[in-house]
Amino acid sequence: MRLLLLIAAIVGVFLIVRTLLRSAGRNRPEQPERLKQQGAVVRCAHCGVHVPQLEAYRSGNRMYCSRDHALVDQRDRSEG
Ligand SMILES: [Zn+2]
Repeated sequence: MRLLLLIAAIVGVFLIVRTLLRSAGRNRPEQPERLKQQGAVVRCAHCGVHVPQLEAYRSGNRMYCSRDHALVDQRDRSEG
C-alpha cells in the first residue's frame, strides 16, 4: 500500500511539472520563429532537394544544394 502512495505521489509531481512547463512555453511558440530565422528555402536545380537559401550554392541564376551539384549540372548543360 505504501508503494501505491509513492507511485501516486510521483505521478502527481510529474503532472504538476508538466503543466508548469506547458504554461511557461505557451508564451513563445518556437517553430514559427525558427522558420522565420532560416529565411527562404530554394530548390536544387539538379536533384530538386529543398535547402535554406543561406546554405545553397548559386551558379548564375540557378541554385544548388551542394557545390558538387552545381559543377555536375554545369557540366551536363555545357555538354547537352
Ligand atoms: Zn542537389
